[in-house]
Amino acid sequence: MNAPAVASVPVLLDLRNDFPILQHPVKGRRLVYLDNGATTQKPAAVIEAESRYYERSNANIHRGVHWLSQHSTDLYEQGRESVRRLLNAARSEEIVFTRGTTEGINLVAHSWGRGAVGPGDEIVLTGMEHHSNIVPWQMLCEQVGASIKVVPVTDSGEIRLEDYRALLGPRTRLVGIAHVSNALGTINPVQEMTRLAHEAGAKVLVDGAQAVAHKVVDVQALDCDFYVFSGHKLYGPTGIGALYARYGILKDMPPWQGGGDMIHTVSFERSTYADVPQRFEAGTPNIAGVVGLDAAIRYVRGVGLDAIAAHEHALLEHATEQLLALPGVRLIGTAGQKAGIASFVVDGIHPHDLGTILDTEGVAIRAGHHCAMPLMARFGIPGTARASFAAYNTPDDVAALISALRKAQKLFGTGS
Ligand SMILES: *Cc1c(COP(=O)(O)O)cnc(C)c1O
Repeated sequence: MNAPAVASVPVLLDLRNDFPILQHPVKGRRLVYLDNGATTQKPAAVIEAESRYYERSNANIHRGVHWLSQHSTDLYEQGRESVRRLLNAARSEEIVFTRGTTEGINLVAHSWGRGAVGPGDEIVLTGMEHHSNIVPWQMLCEQVGASIKVVPVTDSGEIRLEDYRALLGPRTRLVGIAHVSNALGTINPVQEMTRLAHEAGAKVLVDGAQAVAHKVVDVQALDCDFYVFSGHKLYGPTGIGALYARYGILKDMPPWQGGGDMIHTVSFERSTYADVPQRFEAGTPNIAGVVGLDAAIRYVRGVGLDAIAAHEHALLEHATEQLLALPGVRLIGTAGQKAGIASFVVDGIHPHDLGTILDTEGVAIRAGHHCAMPLMARFGIPGTARASFAAYNTPDDVAALISALRKAQKLFGTGS
């Protein structure tokens, strides 16, 4: 059989050497890491920033008169400014540090949701949401007697604006949208969807977990009310993320968790609460995580999000072409606008078996439902195999993926 024609891929970025983990073979092979939708690897700049923080700057924030505490507080607030700039939020008070996307959504559901959503109200979610943007709303709906409406997903993995518009009504309080679907790669038309939601009097929460590392995000241009993301999918540490909330909404939201740092005064009769964003940051936060996240944002901005988007787009196009050239491979998610995610199924091979065989070839992908079980049900499949790209991936990684898939097909006696 002829070797597959190698299409010329415009390689724009060459960042592999910035990532220590990619220098270490896994099972004796060059690591081909294509599970970036689950978490990204960390550049040396991030690892060093965290370790330098503990070596030279560690102290609790906001409480000390001593120099280190002041210094640590400055680094923490500098991280907030860095997130503000990343999202182009109007003011840094609109940025609340969280553990990640999941906690950000829970914060909004608990704090804003309990005041703003009542019996008979509706929350509109797309059919491609991650469980993180479904379950907190279900819990809220059960508590307050509201219900969830789901925008259908087309065969190509897109939202049709007519279907969406038809679901909006006077009872819609909130629309929850994944900016980029983690299972399909679809980039949703968030700006237009937000405009329509606002016309209906609803607020909009955008789940940006798969967007911030892959494209420029501007919350003022999107005009959304809430935007959440996780640091660990943005080349940053685990356990840190952020919530953006429009100041006019955030300033009136009641506290969610109580404790130190979120109060103004405390007596046993009554406590008064701090201003935002401190009101939502009870207890000692993940200070080192904020420092690492700041370093990650600097790294990404240094490379340039437009350059990253172009690089990943080229890889995705190349991978898509190569995948479709294999017999029995079907892509799940063929939207016109996609970020660097290729989800696929292979005739005769269960996604989990595929993942295991690829692993023996040194290729790390994800196989399963991708925390989007309703979406898998809609496509009538138990799961997919998913290759998700980051800025450090290369055409060699795509070649390794394709070659490992051929081996899997040979092993199963499928393919050609
Ligand atoms: C990963 C992911 C989440 C959850 O992020 P956590 O970091 O686990 O809180 C939510 N939504 C999408 C689209 C994701 O990809």
